[in-house]
Amino acid sequence: MRKYVIMGVQGSGKGTQSAMLAADFDLVHIAVGDIFRWNVQNHTKLGALVRRIMAAGELVSDDLVEGVVSERLQRHDWNYGFIIDGFPRNERQAEFFLESYDIDGVIHLELPDSEVRRRVMARRLCANCGLDYNLIDSSPHDEGKCDACGGKLVQREDDTEEALAVRLRDYHGKTNPVLDIFRRKEYVVSIDARPDKEQVRDAIRCALDLPPSDR
Ligand code: AMP
Repeated sequence: MRKYVIMGVQGSGKGTQSAMLAADFDLVHIAVGDIFRWNVQNHTKLGALVRRIMAAGELVSDDLVEGVVSERLQRHDWNYGFIIDGFPRNERQAEFFLESYDIDGVIHLELPDSEVRRRVMARRLCANCGLDYNLIDSSPHDEGKCDACGGKLVQREDDTEEALAVRLRDYHGKTNPVLDIFRRKEYVVSIDARPDKEQVRDAIRCALDLPPSDR
């Protein structure tokens, strides 16, 4: 059983790296932001509660987030483990998480703020299946169209200059202290997120003592 947390500033590649690790080691990828986005898209009650907060780049209340995470983990469909992305984002969430789960490692993707803006503004998401694109180095075949399902590629509602400024401020102010909690427990491996995704993937595996990729 492998249980990981992945942390990093917006655009550092958390989603991409989590998906690769999950696919290769049969882990369940739990992305809290994706769960909220699904709820917004599908007009659920939860979606209505979080939509504006998310669009402004602000953090959803701890109670709501903890509810979503607990419910997801209680499904126990993670026979080989999980990788959780986008949580915990502040000290309270970290304590809540550590009370219930022991973890094997925290992957910290490091990216300078100057690079964050460039990446986030180039990010596109399939409105239909949620697949992530980056117009810098993973453009779709046909402009504006998802390679997997043909859905329309859109910008995330919170990938604007204003919302990004709020999210970066929160990241540095609230999420960095979470890293300190995890560092004290010696869980954290810090990885340079600037190289291409395969190099970052290899660095993660090496740091976590996982077998190298055969792809
Ligand atoms: P992400 O896709 O991880 O950037 O998350 C998108 C948005 O979902 C964030 O800007 C928050 O509004 C909300 N969100 C996701 N995870 C959390 C969390 N752990 N705590 C509070 N809000 C969250």
